[in-house]
Amino acid sequence: SFNADVVPQAPEDALFGLMAAFRRDEDPNKVDLGIGAYRDDNAKPWVLPVVKKADDIIRNDPNLNHEYLPIAGLADFTSASQKLILGGDSPALKEKRVTSLQTVSGTGAVHLGALFLAKFYKTDSQPTAYFSDPTWPNHFQIFSNVGLSHKTYPYFSKETKGLDFDGFYNSIQNADEGSIVVLHACAHNPTGVDLTQDQWKKIAEVIRAKKHFPFFDTAYQGFASGDLARDGWAIRYFVEQGFELCIAQSYAKNFGLYGERAGCFHFVTSPSADAQSTVGRIASQLAILQRSEISNPPAYGARIASLVLNTPELFAQWEDDLRTMSGRIIEMRKALRSKLEELGTPGTWNHITDQIGMFSFTGLSEKQVLKLREDSHVYMTKNGRISMAGLNTHNIDYFAKAVDKAVR
Ligand code: PLP
Repeated sequence: SFNADVVPQAPEDALFGLMAAFRRDEDPNKVDLGIGAYRDDNAKPWVLPVVKKADDIIRNDPNLNHEYLPIAGLADFTSASQKLILGGDSPALKEKRVTSLQTVSGTGAVHLGALFLAKFYKTDSQPTAYFSDPTWPNHFQIFSNVGLSHKTYPYFSKETKGLDFDGFYNSIQNADEGSIVVLHACAHNPTGVDLTQDQWKKIAEVIRAKKHFPFFDTAYQGFASGDLARDGWAIRYFVEQGFELCIAQSYAKNFGLYGERAGCFHFVTSPSADAQSTVGRIASQLAILQRSEISNPPAYGARIASLVLNTPELFAQWEDDLRTMSGRIIEMRKALRSKLEELGTPGTWNHITDQIGMFSFTGLSEKQVLKLREDSHVYMTKNGRISMAGLNTHNIDYFAKAVDKAVR
């Protein structure tokens, strides 16, 4: 019989634990820089005006029903998602080398990709997945849960608080041929440190030379720079170079659809005479995996995103909303850096404005992070990552002074 005594206690999820501690804190000045969700200048969740508009249209549609979606999801949504991430004139789309399934947000897309690779990606030995050090912690458990082993490649330099390019490059070069290389397309989580286009080209070269398989995780397209093409550049470059690859795409941050779980998984096969038949076989296997796990994906968030992506006026309004979010975050980066520099806070702070996206890796030590929490009621993860969206014109002075005090 099942012996429940053998089930050990698992640790609490660090991020969700931090959120709970923040909620318990009754100090009026408390600041939440933990979870990666956008907040407006009043520290409130923001419903994108374009999402509100699309939601109203869908809600008032007399033909709306609550039927199942197909196994691969809403077709208008997955085809618009392909164009969004690959670009409308992508060679892979013209040559019909892409298959896409709607997933349970980005997490579900990473999982579906990992599960597919665990089943079908065979090299001489079982391939290892390489993650950046550090990475979104869920990568580790998603890949181990499907039985893939993983290692890390150097990414963040503690000295420069920027990219350790040589460490990254050498590690990919030394990895066993045919490894899976997980890459953050833009706005790297947790560091906010991205590659330049030249650096991407060099990484693409070594991935090709070593016959590795690139696995892109894109959770911040348009949210990072405010420019969808710029934030999608790395993926489009790899596809133009003819790589076979996969993409896990999330709409949580760029649509503010966190709880709706709208995402997409794409598999792009390399150009060849029988690419279309290959992609058909891959699609058939992905459908079986999806069916056994979630049967079919949730409809509502995908309907909202699909309406916006497929309606030119709404799409243009969405781009405005993206610029609102990314613009406010960029302003907060500038303000934080200049306040710390004005205070003469020990250390250098240029990395705050060099980094991009939702997060900044401040370089604060675990001790300083705990001091900030105890003395100033500021909540951030132990690795010194702050969610930039938690800062606003009302708390930025308070936060800069708190950092100054913790660092001295
Ligand atoms: N991948 C990365 C790198 C992320 O930062 C996130 C969200 O924080 C995700 C994937 C997936 O998020 P979601 O499942 O909410 O779309």
